[in-house]
Amino acid sequence: MEVRVGLGFDIHRLEEGKKLVIGGVEIPSEKGFVAHSDGDILFHALTDAILGALGYGDIGELFPDNDPKYKNLPSEFFLKEAKKILDDKKYKIVNIDSVIIIEKPKIMPYRQRIIENTAKVLGIEKERVFVKAKTNEKLDSIGNQEAAACYVVILLKQEDKE
Ligand code: MG
Repeated sequence: MEVRVGLGFDIHRLEEGKKLVIGGVEIPSEKGFVAHSDGDILFHALTDAILGALGYGDIGELFPDNDPKYKNLPSEFFLKEAKKILDDKKYKIVNIDSVIIIEKPKIMPYRQRIIENTAKVLGIEKERVFVKAKTNEKLDSIGNQEAAACYVVILLKQEDKE
């Protein structure tokens, strides 16, 4: 069996009056993401983790942010495109782990919905997805509520080679 690991990271600026969408779930918040798309840091980092594991470049190469075609698209689109590549190459997702770093609001009350929606978009069991959230201890831009970031790791296996 062939296994591959992928790592993804994303950060977006936060501004008042914008939507805060994480894992496809809109979270009530004073501030939301400034981005070409919806700025969903979890879906962007996860898309990059999948593409990285497959050695397929990154989200910016596949979907350039200066291309109007991708403007204001829900980030579910990028994630589903990466999943298609994964499926084509006959890989399966073993598990996904992630850390969301945001000062406010608390992500905990939305965690289960984020996990369930991420699993649904990828067409996998929710037990294969985990989401953790933490603050930046009031330090730096994230701690000042000027940005939020996300790290994702993913493990893939290729069934064919078992
Ligand atoms: Mg991004």
